[in-house]
Order: sequence, then structure tokens, then C-alpha cells
Amino acid sequence: MTIAEKDSRYVWHPYTHQADRAPAIPVVKGKGALLYDADGNHYIDAVSSWWVNIHGHGNTFIAKKIYQQAKRLEQVIFTTFTHEPAVSLAEQLLPLLPGNFARVFYSDDGSTATEVAIKMALQYWRNRGESRRNKIIAFQHAYHGDTFGAMSISERGTFTMAFRDKLFEVVFIETPREDNIFLAQSLIRQHADEIACFIYEPLLQGAGGMKMHDPHHLDTLLSLMKDEGILCIADEVLTGFYRTGRLFAGDYLEQKADIICLSKALTGGTMALGVTACTQQVHDAFLTADRTKTFFHGHSFTANPLACTAALASLELTLRPECAKQVAYLVEWHALFLGKLRRFERKGFISNLRQTGTICAFDFNTGNYDYLHNIGSALTGYGMKRGVYIRALGNTVYVMPPYCITRAQMRKVYRTIESFIRLTVSRGQEDSRDKSSGK
Ligand code: PMP
Repeated sequence: MTIAEKDSRYVWHPYTHQADRAPAIPVVKGKGALLYDADGNHYIDAVSSWWVNIHGHGNTFIAKKIYQQAKRLEQVIFTTFTHEPAVSLAEQLLPLLPGNFARVFYSDDGSTATEVAIKMALQYWRNRGESRRNKIIAFQHAYHGDTFGAMSISERGTFTMAFRDKLFEVVFIETPREDNIFLAQSLIRQHADEIACFIYEPLLQGAGGMKMHDPHHLDTLLSLMKDEGILCIADEVLTGFYRTGRLFAGDYLEQKADIICLSKALTGGTMALGVTACTQQVHDAFLTADRTKTFFHGHSFTANPLACTAALASLELTLRPECAKQVAYLVEWHALFLGKLRRFERKGFISNLRQTGTICAFDFNTGNYDYLHNIGSALTGYGMKRGVYIRALGNTVYVMPPYCITRAQMRKVYRTIESFIRLTVSRGQEDSRDKSSGK
């Protein structure tokens, strides 16, 4: 049996319809923006392998650091013990984060980073003797992960449908616009003494459909929250490390979060790691002689030395001037690409052309946002035949490549998307001709 056949028999893939899935493609190697399969084909990874891989695949700088660390110490229980990579990472990250962060709590991935954040916020109020403040506010269309807490604070939609009655109650509000801020204001003022925290994906709601919102309006909303003492939790799992053009999305904002969540690009996409950082004020609520007020949360692999080493190496690459330059190029190329797509928008085939830093997106005009729409999988299939891996979110197409992608590779990605739009349009026109001729 081949690897693909064995895979079909033994493995269950994430976010993959089991009944009629195409066989998974065995990947044997990655280099830069390219993924190589077992048959010698290669694909440009236009989604940074689920938005994590910012410095490209097979990065030897990061790999060497992990190897050296693996020979020294691969894992240690992070209660009694500590180690240099975890301490250095916290020390280096804290001053870079957008806000006054004082402590780093490590976990395993993006979902655990947000779980930790909401648990921290809820217990903060409880430890201070204000248990009444236990409501959570989140955005409609939010996505914060797939564990139960993370699902609860996420959009009640396709992903969470099967578990709806098991999710805890959350107050969902619209992302801020000029005309809805008063609504949020009255809700916040009315319930302030019951609200523990507000969790948000700043500027960009990724899995909810690459929806983007304005930093100015978010600032207004955050200042309303802060006026009422509500803890603000920035989920920068996706937006961190230059994704939005600046090091963090919070760098576009005046109002700073009390808690911030990081993962994905944190390790350059080489190892799983989550970070939840908080301010001194949040941490102080846990500085008490009462042992029942301990933060009882931890994972076997908390602050895994290999993952922390990968994060340190990735951070070193991220802070080099070359990285900021690559990011600036990407921002420029995306803007030019969107400019070229305007003609399809004018004709009504696509809409909502948008960009936040290194991410650009648009929607096929197939009705409302629909994750299950098959135009996304059609585009993936079309791209794969041409050596480009694009994974749309239903009818929302986006591009989020590693920063090291070359101009030529990027052009190929853009050309593939453009030719797919043209094909879709011409097919649509043929279909409507067939219908009108009664064929
Ligand atoms: N928060 C955000 C904003 C995300 O985009 C994601 C993942 N797409 C998560 C949390 C969950 O991260 P993970 O998949 O690593 O659990």
C-alpha cells in the first residue's frame, strides 16, 4: 500500500469531509514557499500551511537551533523546573508586545492560548471577590479555536453546530462601525458590573471569512470597554508577527489589551506553542496567600524547550530588517493584485476586495458567506494542477503566503486565481446561455 492508501485507511484529517474526500497528498519535503510531494511535484504554499509558516519551509536556521536544543534538553516538567529558552523567550517577547505586558503563560497552540486567556480573566474577577463579573463579550463571526471554551467564544455557525447546546453563554456583538458603536456602548454600560472580559481578533477575523475592520472603530470600542474595567483580550494568534504589516495588529491601536494570545507564526510554523501574556494587574490577582486562588491550568508540554527554541529562532529572523522588507513587498504586491481584480468586481463577479498587510481576500458573488460552498474546493483543485496551493474559506478566497515567497512565485499565485475567476465567469455565462436557450 502507498502512503496515500494507508492514509485513507488509517488517518482522520482535520476539517475534512470523510465520506468523499480526495486522497491526501503525501508531502516529503518543503523549501521556502514550496512543498514537494512524493511524485516530485511541487506546490506554492499560498496559505503558509494554515497561516503558521512565515519564514518558509525547511528553514535551516530554525532547524539547527531545534537540533542543538534537542541534544541538550527536549522536555521538562514546567512546574518545579524552568529553562533558558522559556525564560529568554518571555524576556524578549514582553517588550515587543503591544501593551504593558508583564508575564507569559505558555500552552500548546492557539486554542489553548485563548482558553487560558478567558480562564485567566474569569478567575481574575473571582480572586478579587467579584464573581458577579463573569460574562464574556465576543464578536460575531469570531473564531478562537476548537476546544470547548474556544468554541464557546466563537461564532455559533457551521463549525460549532454539533455542540451548540454544550457551549457556555457569550454576548456577541457586531464588529465596530461608525453606525453601531452606540449599540455596543449601551450594552456595555448596562451590564458593566457583570462583564468579565471582551475577546477579539484585532483588525482581521480569519476563519470567520477574512473579515476586516477598521482600527479607529476598534479603538473606540476598546476605550468603552476599558472605561468600565472590562479586561480586553487580543487574540493575535493569526495577526501576530507582521501578518498585518506591523509586528502586531495591536500596533495599529491606541487602546492596549490586558491579555494577548499568540501562536501560529510564533515558532515560524515549526513547532506547536501557545503564549498568553498578561499585565501586572492581571497577574497581581493571583498573588495571594490563598492557595485555592492558584491558576490551576497546565499542559504536559507547557513551555516545551524545543518549541521555545524554535520561537526564539523565528523571532530572531522576524526582527531582521530583511523580514520587514519582505513584508513591505508583499503588502505592495497584494495591493497591485487587488487593483487588477477590480475589473471583475465592476462586472459583479466578485466583491469585497480587501487587504490587511500580508493578507488579501475577496468573495465570489455566490450569495452570503458560506464555508461549505464548493467554489473553494474547485479553486483548490484548479490550483493544485498548476502547482499552487490555495485553500479558500468557502466562497472567500484569500492569499497569506510565507514572507520569503519570491516575486515570481507570487505572480504565479495571482495568475492562477485570475485565470480561475475568468474560467468561472465564462462557465457561468455558458450556463446562463444554456438555460435561456432551454438546453
Ligand atoms: N485564534 C485565531 C484568531 C485563529 O485564527 C486560530 C486558528 N485558526 C486559533 C485561535 C486556534 O489556533 P489553533 O488552530 O492553533 O488551535
